[in-house]
Amino acid sequence: MDIEQKVKQTLKNIELSKKDKILVAMSGGKDSSVVAYLLKKLGYKVEGFHINLGMGSYSERCLNAVKELCNQLGIKLHLYDIKKEMGNSMCYLRNAIQTNENGKELKNCAICGVIKKWIMNREARKIHGISAIATGHNLDDESQTFLINILKGSLPLSAHSGVKTKNIADRKFIARIKPLFYIAEDDIREFSKKMKLPVVYEKCPCALDSYRIQIRQFTNTLETGEKENIMKNFDILFPRIQKLKSKEGLRYCEICGEPSRNSICRMCQLMKIK
Ligand code: AMP
Ligand code: ZN
Repeated sequence: MDIEQKVKQTLKNIELSKKDKILVAMSGGKDSSVVAYLLKKLGYKVEGFHINLGMGSYSERCLNAVKELCNQLGIKLHLYDIKKEMGNSMCYLRNAIQTNENGKELKNCAICGVIKKWIMNREARKIHGISAIATGHNLDDESQTFLINILKGSLPLSAHSGVKTKNIADRKFIARIKPLFYIAEDDIREFSKKMKLPVVYEKCPCALDSYRIQIRQFTNTLETGEKENIMKNFDILFPRIQKLKSKEGLRYCEICGEPSRNSICRMCQLMKIK
């Protein structure tokens, strides 16, 4: 099966409707660009969302790539400028957070992930009629995350994973979908190059998560079939993993009002907004 067929099957399994409007979180990298390209090609209603992280020429190249692809695909692009909205670049925010007590134990990518998710959910709500946010997470990312959760004894964290995250019927929480959940990174890169998509292939200059790098070095030695097997195990175990989830439902952060599992959301804990 080629990438397109696999993605079609994945989306069929989560019963994504062509009437749904999907907001693709576009970083300018190959994965999320392929998501936008394929969703549009498969006939879904698509709009793009890009966060300008304000990280010098790297961010400029990402912004230009996203603009160009949206132009080619004829889709609307929503932009969020982190420097304008939050006063500083992602690098600055991350550094400031890491000098805080609350952020000390967190690696760069984890902090960046919390901030991006918070922005995406909040901004997607402001756009009329968005049913889901699609990200570019692929088979390699997901098998690494599952292995990390196993190795760190944090399996309950995997209860929030899957092709579609929307266990909580909450009007403030926009469902997140990962159309490339079962597609290997090498196949995505090959496809993106074959289609000549305008994409920034270099890694984020900020990426620093030594444990994930270690696990990635290991998963890079695996065959695609072996990575698929890891996720087949995830799928088999998923109903049981879900039972490990904390019994407490979703509530709203006392500071920012966003959906949260605790009284103060992860973002506000990191930002120490008091
Ligand atoms: P990362 O955490 O950088 O591996 O990114 C995971 C996913 O988040 C990507 O596949 C994109 O869908 C989305 N994403 C990452 N960076 C951005 C960005 N600057 N703007 C919009 N979406 C992003
Ligand atoms: Zn909050």
